[in-house]
Amino acid sequence: MFQSLEDDKTTCETCHACELGQTRIRSVFSGGSPYAKIMVIGEAPGKEEDEQGEPFVGRSGQLLMKLFAEVGFEREKDLYICNTIKCRPPQNRKPTLAEKEACRPFLDAQIAFVQPKIIVLCGTTAVSSLLPHEKRTITQIRGQWFHHTSGAKIMAVFHPSYLLRHHSLEAGKPRALMMVDLAEISRCLRLNSV
Ligand code: SF4
Repeated sequence: MFQSLEDDKTTCETCHACELGQTRIRSVFSGGSPYAKIMVIGEAPGKEEDEQGEPFVGRSGQLLMKLFAEVGFEREKDLYICNTIKCRPPQNRKPTLAEKEACRPFLDAQIAFVQPKIIVLCGTTAVSSLLPHEKRTITQIRGQWFHHTSGAKIMAVFHPSYLLRHHSLEAGKPRALMMVDLAEISRCLRLNSV
């Protein structure tokens, strides 16, 4: 369908396959490095992302990048960052099923071209798209390894906007559990076990 990652991006930039194409300022395709071993998939662009055309640049995105940096991963070198939905839903509402289906080819092509070793799903929208049969909550499945048909390992983690509301570093709290999950991702890559 797409000839290259660049073709995928170019088509996405002018896409109007769903109604979000009418209200966005800019579609937000990706950030970071297309050579990264880790692909981070969030939900959808927020206000800042819509204005700048870059993913994960708002408050929650900045927190996520800070937490990745704490385990040694740099945004521009070690991570390929994108969202399930490429255009901002009005008032940051949850994307509809129809919007997720319309936007899915862009995400599938990103995975095919980038060929990540690990896919990190941030929040329920990303989980429902890539683990559609999984009915348990993020709290129940976070930190566990799943498998993508491409051969990549998948891990679901808390969405950073949730961590902004739960910032206690106490053991067992979401923020501490997030660091456990990121440390596990780091461990896997260090051991070259993915
Ligand atoms: S959200 Fe996806 S499918 Fe909808 S207009 Fe934007 S790029 Fe196209």
